[in-house]
Amino acid sequence: MVEIRSVHKSFGAVEVLRGIDLSVRAGEVTVVLGPSGSGKSTLLRTINHLEKVDQGWISVDGTLVGYRRSGNKLYELREREVLRQRTRIGFVFQNFNLFPHLTVLENIIEAPVAALGRPRKDAVASAEKLLARVGLADKAGAYPKQLSGGQQQRVAIARALALEPKLLLFDEPTSALDPELVGEVLDVIKDLAHAGTTMIVVTHEIGFAREVADTVVFMDEGRIVEQGPPADVLDRPVQERTRAFLSKVL
Ligand code: ATP
Ligand code: MG
Repeated sequence: MVEIRSVHKSFGAVEVLRGIDLSVRAGEVTVVLGPSGSGKSTLLRTINHLEKVDQGWISVDGTLVGYRRSGNKLYELREREVLRQRTRIGFVFQNFNLFPHLTVLENIIEAPVAALGRPRKDAVASAEKLLARVGLADKAGAYPKQLSGGQQQRVAIARALALEPKLLLFDEPTSALDPELVGEVLDVIKDLAHAGTTMIVVTHEIGFAREVADTVVFMDEGRIVEQGPPADVLDRPVQERTRAFLSKVL
């Protein structure tokens, strides 16, 4: 479903991704761990072309991200085509990023109506189903600031799902939440995992990784240091750097 090959990315003189290779199979959950600055967010952002790679390539569901191949050459897609590709990849951020001036329902239908040209009535019907799925059926008319952080993040997940993405990316979806609100958001993500959604989740929630991940990836200094099933990477890490990191977060 997702193929990442030899991806390099620098900001100025700093190489933030130093040759990333990763495959994610359809229906699987990949959890990415690693210290601050190791390149986790940058990696997620390259997957929907919010950051351009300097070398290497990424494909999602058989389609090259951000480029088209012609012979041996890659040509960058135009903005419109990039935006269309992005509608197939849902992205949930640490800080929810809801539109503050729109109600919950309007937040969810905005992209399906504006980007996909869905009839408003259909978009509203799907949005209501999605709100029920994340346990917020009664909040359609509320504004983001009237909701708790956990509720806002569940709306953000419903909004990402409204585009029926092939792939969902989560960048520390619970790290801006008060501890007592983390569980309700993780539960929604777990439900998605059990329903077979393909996901890449950057998180420091080791318990979640152990329970839900098919693959755990440990990144450090722009490289994947170690990857494998949670029972290997979390409980029997081979690399010293993985051990040192886990001893700090566990
Ligand atoms: P954290 O756990 O703190 O979120 P991270 O693993 O997500 O860290 P990134 O955000 O990917 O790390 O950042 C990796 C490095 O790239 C950092 O040194 C960061 O300062 C740098 N960086 C990220 N984005 C940019 C940018 N747009 N311009 C310049 N440097 C950047
Ligand atoms: Mg980050």
